[in-house]
Amino acid sequence: MIKRMMTMNRGDFKILDQKIYGRPLVYLDNAATTQKPQVVIDTLKAYYETINSNIHRGVHYLSQRATDEFEAAREAVRRFINARHAYEIVFTRGATDSMNLVAASFGRTFLHEGDEIVVSKMEHHANIVPWQFLCEDRGCVLKVLPFNEKGELCIEQLDQLITPKTKIVAVTQVSNSLGTVNPVKAIIEIAHKKGVPVLLDGAQAVSHCKVDVQALDCEFYCFSGHKMYAPMGIGVMYGKEEWLNKMKPYQGGGEMIKQVTFAKTTYNDLPFKFEAGTPSVGDAMGLKAAIEYMESIGIENIAAYEKELLDYAEKRLSSIEGLRIYGQAAQKAAIVSFNIDKIHPSDIGAIIDKLGVAVRTGHHCTQPIMDHFGIPGTVRASFAIYNDKKEIDDLYEAVYRAKNMLL
Ligand code: PLP
Repeated sequence: MIKRMMTMNRGDFKILDQKIYGRPLVYLDNAATTQKPQVVIDTLKAYYETINSNIHRGVHYLSQRATDEFEAAREAVRRFINARHAYEIVFTRGATDSMNLVAASFGRTFLHEGDEIVVSKMEHHANIVPWQFLCEDRGCVLKVLPFNEKGELCIEQLDQLITPKTKIVAVTQVSNSLGTVNPVKAIIEIAHKKGVPVLLDGAQAVSHCKVDVQALDCEFYCFSGHKMYAPMGIGVMYGKEEWLNKMKPYQGGGEMIKQVTFAKTTYNDLPFKFEAGTPSVGDAMGLKAAIEYMESIGIENIAAYEKELLDYAEKRLSSIEGLRIYGQAAQKAAIVSFNIDKIHPSDIGAIIDKLGVAVRTGHHCTQPIMDHFGIPGTVRASFAIYNDKKEIDDLYEAVYRAKNMLL
């Protein structure tokens, strides 16, 4: 049943229907960005062909239409992650932008010299570097929750890591390098017992599992549209109303103000206080179309299907002698990172590319993970709804061939 539905979906992604170096494209770089279904492409086209206009400030018809569509997209995101209020949804350029927003704004408001920020060792650089800026500027201290050899966070150490000086815990829900699905509910409970708010990096989670920010009870939730079938250039920062109200704005400019004089500026209400300048209206509409597309398939169906692909890929790849999979957590999303003994990951990537198989190689913006394992990088295959087992066979064959060529 799930299989049939997924096969049908492939037709929604015309880009997949092409040959690369004379071979059918096998696109397995979905953790970097997913392809976009036709409905998302059509939505973007329709926006620019029919209602393109700047929003909120215009009295004319097109401006009002564009404003309505932009706010409808906000409501779709609210529903998608089950936020309490649409004004808790702030549109950004992506997860990186969202986390920089929280770090800068939260930092300006609440952080002082000696305060501590807890992140994990498996964070994407986007959830490390913005906090390091604060450490440099404000004299804060970054503390790091480690992970074990399977790639699971040592959450038994979290309680001790959080001290009276800890102001925020910022962790990823799903690791983009290891595929680990972290026990974020338990992490939030531990942090909340000590009165510490939690930011979740949901960049790799939203396309793979149902997210309910009220059930999770996180203070902030950040993600990108382009990793969940939506256009590039749009992302989301969810924040609980009580925190967003207290936080100083991130960027200054149009839209985020109530009144500007040279003596004093007052700020707009939520969410506009955090949305300075012209937003990406068409991309927000594309995000809404992507959400509706995923909902029409059912997030649970997507999760179940991708689990099937993950299990199959891990089984096939691990039959290759000398191949090691990094990230063997009990709970994993559809990401397999691996290396083959004595072979550099980029050599494998370059060869299998010529066989039509697109994967990512390198440190995946998680250098601390690579340092932990003492490796320069990995080969990463990541799966989405339009992939199938035949493509995993193609990946296996290509990697097998690359190994034989390189050793
Ligand atoms: N966080 C994680 C876990 C990611 O995988 C990524 C991108 O790969 C990001 C953050 C940054 O996302 P973006 O580049 O869309 O801002």
